[in-house]
Amino acid sequence: MRPHLATLNLPKDVGEMSEECIFCKIASGEVPSDMLYRDKQVFAIRDIRPQAPKHLLILPVEHIPSIADVTHSQAPLIVRMITVANELAAKEGIAERGYRLAINCRREGGQAVPHLHIHLLGGKQLSGRLG
Ligand code: AMP
Ligand code: ZN
Repeated sequence: MRPHLATLNLPKDVGEMSEECIFCKIASGEVPSDMLYRDKQVFAIRDIRPQAPKHLLILPVEHIPSIADVTHSQAPLIVRMITVANELAAKEGIAERGYRLAINCRREGGQAVPHLHIHLLGGKQLSGRLG
């Protein structure tokens, strides 16, 4: 079944957590956030320091440190994250004009928070620079 954007209740089963991880704390509700979407596997929040008019983060509930740590069996989870990102882009009104999905990986990839997340950026003409 496709994820439904109205599903914002916190399920009891929050999966594997890392105690010191800010995004795990947001997933569990311990730290407040501007949560836009939530299901058993995936949630989405607005970035606290937006780098574009629209800047959302799409994350797995389970603590996966980075995209480099994803295993083959987690492929459906990644597809789910991308589907949620696309649906949120439509909901935010930027799907037609276009947007960027970006994943920073580990230190030199610019990843500051070691809990996998997809950045959804849009609402302006984004720079062509990638590095
Ligand atoms: P990255 O550098 O790819 O790890 O991205 C981490 C992102 O998380 C940055 O864009 C931060 O602004 C954002 N961020 C950090 N803490 C929070 C928070 N408590 N709520 C929302 N976004 C956050
Ligand atoms: Zn975490």
